[in-house]
Amino acid sequence: MKTIEIEPTFESWQAAARALLRDETPPAQVRWREASNARQPSLPHEPTSSGAVKVPRQFLELARQAAAASDPARWQILYDVLWRLVHEHRDLLKDPHDPGIQRLHGLLTPKAAGPDGDGAARLVPAGAGLGELRAAAARCTGCDLYRQATQTVFGRGSADARIVFVGEQPGDQEDRQGAPFVGPAGEVFDRALAEAGLERENVYVTNAVKHFKFEQRGKRRIHQTPRATELQACRPWLEAELTLIKPDILVCLGATAARAIFGDTFRITKDRGRFAATRWAPKTIATYHPSAVLRGETETQQAELYAMLLEDLQKVAQA
Ligand code: SF4
Repeated sequence: MKTIEIEPTFESWQAAARALLRDETPPAQVRWREASNARQPSLPHEPTSSGAVKVPRQFLELARQAAAASDPARWQILYDVLWRLVHEHRDLLKDPHDPGIQRLHGLLTPKAAGPDGDGAARLVPAGAGLGELRAAAARCTGCDLYRQATQTVFGRGSADARIVFVGEQPGDQEDRQGAPFVGPAGEVFDRALAEAGLERENVYVTNAVKHFKFEQRGKRRIHQTPRATELQACRPWLEAELTLIKPDILVCLGATAARAIFGDTFRITKDRGRFAATRWAPKTIATYHPSAVLRGETETQQAELYAMLLEDLQKVAQA
């Protein structure tokens, strides 16, 4: 039996599933485990048959949607279906009576986003100012993330700010202090802002998800990437902030925020640093999250990431 650790994302599962297929590992011999910052599994990489495996595009689309579900069995279900598509029956998806296909479709049935069932949408007071929004968000139970976190971390800044920064979610220090970008990543952010000639007091800073999602390991709380369903549940708060502020420039910090604004196909490594008009701001741009700088494995890598972040913030300052 192989235990495969993956991050709870489609991309992480896909990379692991490809390696398992190359290794001819049947589903019954795989146990899937979710972990943030999981390393790619080290499996033998010898191709066993005729090279790259081809699967129907429809399966990839279904798998991408199913990956956003909350059922922990979804990775196993996906690999079962993938294995059978490759080894048994390429038209498997056309069989609505097949139990595996039924389980796959069961993952796609919309589930309640949390105890209130519909995310934050019905909790957002219509026509509210920032203070009222902040107070309402403090009581939000739109998804399960409020249960474990210390408090809601709403955006900080003035409704008159012309530049809005959106990150992914609060971190450990933000969760404790109740303010965005105040931990180690906040220090990197402040340094880059100052070097770019921007002042924190003049911008609005918020996150796509307002509660800290983490995994407790001993005394440490390890950041976990929010699921698509959690992003969706929390989106009404971000939309309310952006609708009220109507920024001239919107800056997405990191891949999660960028995808929330530009869509799922956005790739931070490829698409960062370019302005585009979105429904939220005439000039919207994405760059690296300051925490990515801290995650650089060497000083050189950290310096390179910081330079790219600074370069993009300089574009913002000049715009
Ligand atoms: S993460 Fe967002 S939607 Fe979920 S409980 Fe917190 S504020 Fe509400």
